[in-house]
Amino acid sequence: MPPARPKPPAQIHRGTPRTLARLARILREGGLVAVPTETVYGLAADAFSARACRGIFKAKRRPASDPLIVHIGSVDDLALVAEPNPAAYRLAEKFWPGPLTLVLGKKPRIPDVVSAGRPSVAVRMPAHPLFRRLILLAGRPLAAPSANPFGYVSPTTAAHVRDGLGDRIAHILDGGPSRIGLESTIVDLRNPRAPRLLRPGAITRAQLERVLGVPVAGPAGRPVSRRGPQLAPGLLARHYSPRTPVAILDRLPGAAARRAAPAEAWLFLARPRGRAGPGDFWLDARGNLPAAARRLFATLRRIDAKGFKRINLSLLRGGGLAEAINDRLRRAGRPSPAAAARSARASRS
Ligand code: AMP
Ligand code: MG
Repeated sequence: MPPARPKPPAQIHRGTPRTLARLARILREGGLVAVPTETVYGLAADAFSARACRGIFKAKRRPASDPLIVHIGSVDDLALVAEPNPAAYRLAEKFWPGPLTLVLGKKPRIPDVVSAGRPSVAVRMPAHPLFRRLILLAGRPLAAPSANPFGYVSPTTAAHVRDGLGDRIAHILDGGPSRIGLESTIVDLRNPRAPRLLRPGAITRAQLERVLGVPVAGPAGRPVSRRGPQLAPGLLARHYSPRTPVAILDRLPGAAARRAAPAEAWLFLARPRGRAGPGDFWLDARGNLPAAARRLFATLRRIDAKGFKRINLSLLRGGGLAEAINDRLRRAGRPSPAAAARSARASRS
């Protein structure tokens, strides 16, 4: 047999009317397109096509047990894919288009691959203008998880998508760096009297509670502690890890101690006092939280590329966006599936 020819690397497209029309046709015909969103880049396919959505799992090497989010172009389409209730429409009116995903009962038109066999479906109306135009041109909802190989840090630029999936997908739509930079807030609204926050994001628990008028519980059905580990088994199983091991410390050491450990990276929220060493990184010079969220994944990737022995960080104080950033920092602190497999092999040999 002749050797397999390497696939041509993915093309990065600008969002001109002509390319949008072409990418919409590719989606209608069952193809995959990586798309910009305000949260992170997604890998999109026709949400009504089981075959197209199986392609997403294959490209990402994502286990079939991890469901996809369905993206709609208008609130009117919510009832096409899910069983909405009045609370869902109240949240949609307040936060859509935007970084909020609602988990509701699933309509039969959504294939089981999308929901990983669950009777529920996760739905969001994204705010990024290019992605919305693409959904409307495709004329159907698009299922999309983050456009990264399963287990790695989510992509917030078209170049990140190409770095991770460039030889497994053909088309990437470039919409600039993601404005929010963290995956959407996910709230389970199947019982609107007892909503549950499944994933913290830029729309905070307090914002949801103000609209819903009831407390929003954590993933396990109880309030989530701000510093303790997340207890939902489904969430524990998922990783968003850099390849470099991450250590979560109570506090980061002073400049002299950091300089004495040149193989280590130190990740701060704000620029640390004194002269910065080569291992010092910060998310935003002044510690502005939205800016820090926007740069978090790109910063982890940048550190990852430099070959440090370890990334040391400490969790942020406070709720809201700090809760969402801490969730990603804790996940980064768990070994990725690839790293876990490597260390299992190493301990056997
Ligand atoms: P990603 O955007 O890559 O984080 O993938 C979508 C995420 O949405 C999944 O990992 C789940 O956390 C969540 N999700 C999707 N569908 C459901 C559902 N039916 N119930 C609960 N969570 C869901
Ligand atoms: Mg993901």
